[in-house]
Parts: sequence; structure tokens; C-alpha cells
Amino acid sequence: MASVRVAVRVRPLSQREKDLSAKVIIQVDGQITSVLSTKENFSCMNGELSGERVKSFSYDFSYDSMNSTSLNFVTQEKIFKDLGTDVLQAAFEGYNACVFAYGQTGSGKTYTMMGNPGDYGLIPRICEGLFHHIGGVLQKDKASFHMEVSYFEIYNERVRDLLPSTETQGCELRVREHPKDGPYVDALSRHQVQSYTEVGQLMQEGNKRRATANTGMNNVSSRSHAIFTIRFIKAMFDGELPSETVSKVHLVDLAGSERADATQTTGIRLKEGANINRSLVTLGIVISTLAISPADVNYSETLNTLRYASRAK
Ligand code: ADP
Ligand code: MG
Repeated sequence: MASVRVAVRVRPLSQREKDLSAKVIIQVDGQITSVLSTKENFSCMNGELSGERVKSFSYDFSYDSMNSTSLNFVTQEKIFKDLGTDVLQAAFEGYNACVFAYGQTGSGKTYTMMGNPGDYGLIPRICEGLFHHIGGVLQKDKASFHMEVSYFEIYNERVRDLLPSTETQGCELRVREHPKDGPYVDALSRHQVQSYTEVGQLMQEGNKRRATANTGMNNVSSRSHAIFTIRFIKAMFDGELPSETVSKVHLVDLAGSERADATQTTGIRLKEGANINRSLVTLGIVISTLAISPADVNYSETLNTLRYASRAK
């Protein structure tokens, strides 16, 4: 399996966009997502878009939400099947995994990661899948499992527990480096969970605490990165010594990626925007480093990565 996989999901037009007679300028076909010209030279015939393609990109998955008869049409369930099952597999095998949702405010990040009651997104489905697996394996294996969840947000470069204990309520938490395990959030609360219902309650509690603010682009937009972490611990009693594997699954709903000027903001919102952009640029560098490829098709990306890496010497 590739170390990084990328899926693009295009949400349907909102009512507001429809009222403004907005045109769809994204076309999804197989694995290719194309951005069409914004000029008047394309038209919509029988629900199919035709027009000048400006730029095309290829991803592991390209999903459409406009036309339910299209092969690229996607549901929350399909997203989970395509992307979530690999995350479950990684956790069962003792690997760490991470899913990010990236995009401008209003593009559907929270919908994809969390979803709505009755129309759940990736995070609830992954949690459900983990509990389902525990139930199945317990009967045939000499293993015991337990699961812990944490939920925090990074808002304006500050880390805040979304499920705080009485001691950490309202505190800014610090990121530290463990010599063996790498970076971690100091004093972040972990909640042991026994059932999917318990996870659901914690998710709801954390979501209510997430920082939101008004910007010119959207009434209530998320200006924080929210990180939901599941620690999946498997203890085996097979051999002479008991062994334990710990997998961490990070599920991340990033802050809006829009440039600060697009939201016509000033002052504190502009500072927020600068911090958000800074962390997203850093994230991009980390991702491209993970996906570094020796193939000629990746010439320019590889060149950029190598350039960046050489600056660190
Ligand atoms: P973001 O978290 O990126 O700011 P949201 O997830 O809040 O965006 O989505 C904005 C609005 O669009 C919400 O009302 C959401 O329910 C709706 N929406 C997003 N993606 C979809 C989709 N694939 N299908 C239907 N509605 C969607
Ligand atoms: Mg959101």
C-alpha cells in the first residue's frame, strides 16, 4: 500500500450558491479532477459539463456529489469503504495511521470527517469499525483490547484540550518531544472507552468546545485544527511473555485553507489566518517528504522536496 493516498471530494452547490446562479467549474471523471474555465464558454448539457479544461489532476480517488447517477458519485459509506477500512487494517496490524481533511472553509471537511447524526462521516465510522473488530476477535484470539481517545484543537498556535479534566480546563497545553515516541501533547487527557456510544458522547462534547468565529466567507467557520486521536491497544497472551502493540490513529479536521485576503479580514482574524497558513505549509512539506518518489513524473515535486531538504543541512 502506498504511504500516502489522496482523495478529492467535491460537495454539491449550497442553496446560497444556487440562489446566486453559481456554475459548477469542477468536473470529476474517473481518477481525474479538472477545473474548468470560469469564462462563459462552457455549458451544462443533460447534467454533463462541457467546456474548456484549464487544469487536470489525478488522485487515488476523485469523488463527485452533484449527480447521483455518475460513477464518481459518493456517499459517506463509500468514503469509509475506500479510505476508512485501510485505517482499520493499519490499527489491527499495529501501525499508526492518519487522515487529514484539507480545503477552504465550507468545502465539506467537517461533513466528511464527522458528518451529521444519521449521516456519519469517517471518524464515527472508524470508531464503530474498531469496536466491531474487537467484538469479533475476542472470541477466537488470546487477545484483549482497549481503546482510548483524545481530542484537542490547535487555535492560533495554541493547543487546547477539547475533553479537558478539571485541572486542564482552560489551559494551554504544550507540545513536547519524547525521545522514542516523538512529539506529543503534554497533559492531554485520554479517555478509555468501552463502547461506540461512549465515543459518540465524547465526540459531541468536544465538538461543542471547538473554537468558531465569524469571517466574511462563512457565518460560522472553523479557524482551528481539530485532532481526534484513537489509541488502540492490543495485549496478547499467546507466548510465554505477554506482548502489547499500540496503534495511534489521528483523524484531523484542518482549519480553512483560504488565503486571509479572500475572507476580507483584518486584525486578529488576519493573524489567525497567517498562523493557519504557516501550519498548513509545514504540513504540506511533511506530506511531500513522506511521498517522495524517484520516478520522472514527479520531477518538479521531487526537486522542490530536495531543495527544501538541502536547506536543512
Ligand atoms: P468545512 O468544515 O470545510 O468548513 P462543512 O463540512 O461544514 O465545511 O460543509 C459546509 C456545508 O456543506 C455544510 O452545511 C455541510 O452539511 C454541507 N456539505 C458539505 N459536504 C457535503 C456533501 N458531500 N454532501 C452534502 N452536503 C455537504
Ligand atoms: Mg468545518
